[in-house]
Order: sequence, then C-alpha cells, then structure tokens
Amino acid sequence: MTDANTHATPDAPALHVITRDVHGVSRKQMSQSALRVLYRLQEAGFGAYLVGGAVRDLLIGHQPKDFDVATDATPEQVKALFRNCRLIGRRFRLAHVVYGRDIIEVATFRANGGDDEGDRQTDDGGRLLRDNVYGSIEEDAVRRDFTANALYYTVEDFSVRDYVGGYADVQARLLRLIGNPEARYREDPVRMLRAARLAAKLGFTIEPATAEPIARLAPLLADAAPARLFEETLKLFLAGHAEASFLQLEAHGLVQALLPGTAHALASNKSGALRRMLLQGLRNTDRRVANDEPVSPAFLYAVLLWPAYCHALALLQAQGVHAAEAQRRAADRVTMQQVARTALPRRFSLPMQEIWLLQPRFSLRQRKRVFRLLAHPRFRAAFDFLELRLAASNAHADDVAFWREAQLHPTQATAEQGFQDVLASPEAAEDSVAPRKRRRRRKPAAEGAP
Ligand code: ATP
Ligand code: MG
Repeated sequence: MTDANTHATPDAPALHVITRDVHGVSRKQMSQSALRVLYRLQEAGFGAYLVGGAVRDLLIGHQPKDFDVATDATPEQVKALFRNCRLIGRRFRLAHVVYGRDIIEVATFRANGGDDEGDRQTDDGGRLLRDNVYGSIEEDAVRRDFTANALYYTVEDFSVRDYVGGYADVQARLLRLIGNPEARYREDPVRMLRAARLAAKLGFTIEPATAEPIARLAPLLADAAPARLFEETLKLFLAGHAEASFLQLEAHGLVQALLPGTAHALASNKSGALRRMLLQGLRNTDRRVANDEPVSPAFLYAVLLWPAYCHALALLQAQGVHAAEAQRRAADRVTMQQVARTALPRRFSLPMQEIWLLQPRFSLRQRKRVFRLLAHPRFRAAFDFLELRLAASNAHADDVAFWREAQLHPTQATAEQGFQDVLASPEAAEDSVAPRKRRRRRKPAAEGAP
C-alpha cells in the first residue's frame, strides 16, 4: 500500500523515543494513583505506559480528565497484582484499579489484527464487529484513532514512545487519523464526532486528509448505537467547549447526523434567529462549566432541540392546531425523532419538554398563575431558558423583567402588572413556515392546476 501520509503507516510503525528533556512532561503533573499503577506493574516485570488523552493533554499543558494505562500484562495478571482491582467488560476485559474516588483504567495491549487474521470481523460496510485480541504495543498504537492519542509514557526512563508520528502532530496541533481515513471512519463512524470534539476541545486543526471524508461519510452515523451517540453528545456539549464543538460539527456537515430535526429547522430559518439562540445557549453552558456551576443534559437538550421544536410548532399551528395542543404535539414529535438518533433517557426528555411548555406561561400575569408558576419545580430552568431567549433576541425583555421582579417581590409585581394574557410565540413562527404556502396547502383544487 502506498500512503502519502508518512506520519502514520500502520503497516510499519517505527519507534521514535522522545526523551524527558525534550518533551518536558513531569511526574508532578500526573495522578499519584496512575503513577502507583505504573510502578507496580513495572516492578512485577511488565511493560506499563500512560497512554491516550492523558499524554496528549500533558504535552500541551492541559490537565487530563482521566489517566489510562496500557500494559502487556493480561487482565488476570493485573488483578493478581492489585487488591483494589476489579475486572469489567465482557467483549473486551479491562482492569479498574480503584484508589478512593480515583479509578485507573488498565487495558492490555490490543490488536485489531491485520486483514489476514481471522479474529478481526467487519460487516459489509467495513464496520468493525469484533476486536478482542491482545497484541503488541505497536499493534495497540495503530488501532487507536488519532496519532496524538497514540503516545506512550513510561516511568522506566520517563520517555514518550511514539510509533505513528503523534509527537510531531501534537507539536503542530494537528489531528490526524492513523491509517486510511475513510477505512477508519467506516470501521467506526463515531470517530468523525471524536475528530470534531477533540478539535474543539484542544483547539487542534483536523488535518486535510482526515477532514475530507467526514461530510461525505456523515450519514454512516445513522447506524451508530443511539446510546453511544448520547454519550458522545454529552462529551461534545457539557465539557466546556460546547460552542466550539457545534461550530466544528457545522463545518464538517455533522449536525444533520446528530440532531436531524435541528439541522432541518436551522436550514429553513432564514433570519438566523434560531441559530443565534442555540449558540447563545451553548456559550452560557460553557460559562457555567468554567465557573463550576452545574449543567444538566435536560437543559442542554432543550437548547439543542429548540430550533426543531419551534419548527414543528410552527408547522402544527399553520395546520390550524390549537396552541396548547400544538405545543404538546411538537414537543412529543421532536423528542421521538431525537430518541431514535441519540438515546435521550426520559429523566432528561421530560424536564426538557417542561422547559419548552412553560415558556408561554411567562406571559400570563394573573396573580394566581404567577404564584403557581413560581412554585413549579421546573420554574428556575424554564426562567433561565427565557433569559436565554432574551439574550438572543429582544422580544421577551418585558417578560424577563417582570419575572425577575416576581421572584423577589411576588405580591408587588403581580399588583403592578395586572392582567395580561399574551401567548409568547416561539421564534420560529416568523419565517420557518411561509404563511402563503400554508393557505395554499388547504386548497384541494391546487392539484388540478397546470
Ligand atoms: P478525552 O480527553 O476526552 O477523554 P480521549 O482521547 O482520552 O479524550 P477516550 O474516549 O478517553 O478519549 O479514549 C481513550 C483513548 O482510547 C483515546 O485517546 C484513543 O487512543 C483510544 N480510542 C478511544 N476511542 C477510540 C475509537 N473510536 N477508535 C480508536 N481508538 C479510540
Ligand atoms: Mg480519556
């Protein structure tokens, strides 16, 4: 196979050792628990390496989220060495070494096998169905996704071992798939989302040959497991880089694959109001994460699917469905569509729907209704959502001011405002459904027209 990409030839991985004085990563930056695991395995005569995201993050001065270890010891051998160890996973056994709340994942080197090896099974589209063979460190390196994720740090001599050119790519802030990009995406389409997510998280550029197939192969994500896509969605949007993630997904044609209803609504919303609101919501989420404030999947999905909800609502209202009924049906329709793609559990989808359905109630200012809404368990989230809509457009300024005051002085606020019964109409109604088309659709005679 000729491969222009000399950094990453899985067939002939050549070892490049980056010494401590060159890479500059210090043990002080590492988890004590991970270091204990590395030393114990090494003292027992096994090869043991810190690997994956942790090494990559340390090289660019980020604090790693978790520390993973790769070794040539089998899971049973790892278990025999640590009292605080449990084995998990059926398809591929992993060892978890537990120090209080710290869990170090220890994985035995793994090979996907070459095409001539019987243990590797793919379906007709080239998707990996089974990979459960242990392998050498070289095999473990080339089965990983990006070169930046395939670096091995050892306490033997404190060096970083690089088989795929990952060190140079980290220095150049490049995300490059190991091997043939199209084949690697076909094996596991979720790698497309990982490319977008890691580019957003690290501020890396997706190298052109790695980026090129994504928009073309994005539809393959329809076959990915909805539960896995849900997990990926949370990693994309609840880790402090939600806005950057969305922009990456947009740039690579991936929004449609993850949020089909929203992609459709954004495309038909000519004013761009829905996209502005969505991005504003993601910026707020990033700010909350940065301030260590809690973020919830329900609120996140309320933001991500708001365009789809507004669009569905506008369609139903155009068909003459009464407002309250249209809201319920739009919420259900959008939820059902989305659950088929990302398995959104009900404990998140129900509060998400409540956040939407409470929006029009902020326009109802009779005393009794105000008190009831203030006492609603989802009031706070729904009000935050209202504020978000305000930040994206000025249409709800009056509502936000009223409800801010009502939370502080409920009696006074209701006395001053008096009765007002306006149903706040969601942003989409303005231009995502053209009013003229609506009327024409009702005329059966249109069929006979030339
Ligand atoms: P993060 O910092 O977000 O945790 P990460 O790169 O560590 O990013 P993980 O999901 O924790 O991501 O995966 C750990 C490692 O496992 C990766 O660095 C990579 O080497 C490998 N890996 C993960 N997912 C895949 C995949 N789909 N295909 C190949 N290798 C993968
Ligand atoms: Mg990780």
